[in-house]
Amino acid sequence: MAKLQNIKGMRDHLGQAMLLRQHIVAVLTQVAERHGFEPLQTPVVEYAELLEGKLGDDEKLIYRFEDNGGRRLALRYDQTVPLARVVAQYAGQLVFPWRRYAYGPSYRGERPARGRYREFYQFDADIVGSASPLADAEIVAILTESLEALGFPGFTTLLNHRQVIGGIARASGLDEAAASGVYRSIDKFDKLGADGVREELLKMGVAPESAAQILALVQIDGDPRDVLEELSGRLGDDERAAQALENLRAVISGLVEMGVAPERYKVAPRLARGLSYYTGLVFEAATPHWPEGSLLGGGRYDELIGQFAGRAIPTVGLAFGIDRLHDVMEELGLGPRPTSTATAYVTIFAAGLEADSLALARELRAGGVNTLISLEAGGGLGKQLKDADRKGVRFALVLGPDELARGEVVLKDLRGGAQRSVARGEVVAALADGRQ
Ligand code: AMP
Repeated sequence: MAKLQNIKGMRDHLGQAMLLRQHIVAVLTQVAERHGFEPLQTPVVEYAELLEGKLGDDEKLIYRFEDNGGRRLALRYDQTVPLARVVAQYAGQLVFPWRRYAYGPSYRGERPARGRYREFYQFDADIVGSASPLADAEIVAILTESLEALGFPGFTTLLNHRQVIGGIARASGLDEAAASGVYRSIDKFDKLGADGVREELLKMGVAPESAAQILALVQIDGDPRDVLEELSGRLGDDERAAQALENLRAVISGLVEMGVAPERYKVAPRLARGLSYYTGLVFEAATPHWPEGSLLGGGRYDELIGQFAGRAIPTVGLAFGIDRLHDVMEELGLGPRPTSTATAYVTIFAAGLEADSLALARELRAGGVNTLISLEAGGGLGKQLKDADRKGVRFALVLGPDELARGEVVLKDLRGGAQRSVARGEVVAALADGRQ
């Protein structure tokens, strides 16, 4: 007998959980489509070499395997590298800037933990073929609108730019090679704190004065424009950092013009983000209610698509982690909590009356009411009402000989137990907004 267990880090989602997940995806889809994004779906499996060389240290997390034909394949790690392939493959058919969204599972061989899985679902939105800071701002606006529509309280998006972090490393006297270790340490700032990061930097061979300077720079905090001002003062001589700060200023102007509330974002020079393909803006959204990690992340990656397309195609995008959104919403009790997909449960009063109940169920469905039908009269009404209640259906309908004679239906609210007779022609209207 095969073992009845999941692969570690991969989960089943039964009805209630799926209803919340579907709600999350529906809201994200709605926001993306409101901005005119179009859907894209790509396979879960890609050639391994497509993914290789794009992920830096994280490459070891790729699930690789050989198929029966001896091909070296991999489960996708994210939806960004597949997007890059699609853009290169269909460039002639796409109209740039191309706005696309995508939803599906990604796979990483990570050590599972709270909010960290090996199979998890991402919802991505990207703008391909525009270097405009307005594209960056639109992506951040979308994430803000989405988290607001999902009802997240008190979230903040941290914004930074790869060349601000590069500038911090250079200003501290480190060359490019040493800088990547520094980025990784800075990225752990929220987890390790200033002392933990200092320790890591010193272990890496960074001089104590450089470490002190890096720590001072990454901790600059405050109103976005003030943070940019202060960073300009300290990094202004570094041309790439100066351009990066100018770019962040333009993104923030875009956010203001798009009506994104100022309390929703911050410039955070400590934000590095793991993936190695980012070239410009990077961002993550977090909420104090979920200290384990980011709800979503993204940034600008102007060179990744060029690796496939042979010419630079500037792109900015984000990936929501559906599993994290789901876990946090469960914990905070956010979102609607339907207990069933059905609003109505039509009972069968007695053997021989099946046809009448089936006709009623058909009428309800035709009227747009999601309806479960009992499958047997056996055991009596009591058993059927109990079944309806256990399935989380709000209303039970009873159609006995008396009701049939009067052209009525008995409508029983299983939350609280109130019941009343309703004229057959009015029953759809009575149930129309019963799903909660
Ligand atoms: P990334 O593709 O690493 O930029 O991640 C984007 C988002 O996907 C993160 O903010 C998380 O919400 C989610 N995510 C990434 N890795 C995992 C994981 N192992 N388990 C669950 N969610 C993840």
